[in-house]
Amino acid sequence: MKIHKGDTVQLMVGKDKGKTGKILRLMEKDMAVAVEGLNLYKKHVRPKRQGEKGETIHIARPVSISNVMLMCMSCKRPARLGYRIEESETGGQKDRTKRRYCKRCQHII
Ligand SMILES: [Zn+2]
Repeated sequence: MKIHKGDTVQLMVGKDKGKTGKILRLMEKDMAVAVEGLNLYKKHVRPKRQGEKGETIHIARPVSISNVMLMCMSCKRPARLGYRIEESETGGQKDRTKRRYCKRCQHII
């Protein structure tokens, strides 16, 4: 999976095409993400008790991950992703971390 929860992505389809938001939920099984504030639909919530008012809430409808692009916060454009392995050593323990970076500006995402 190239994208993670909390990443900022741009939506490539639908009524919110071109808008950006943070990933709220990642559904790996469905290869889908729910993006904060994007692709919202209204859901009517029934009152739980008598005498209470029902309300309408907005829920982010999941979209396929193929319909979002990870944003580079440095150049503020959809990123062309690259990967590099960073090696570090702490207390004799070697660590290898895979990092994503923007091929355009080399910024680590
Ligand atoms: Zn960039």
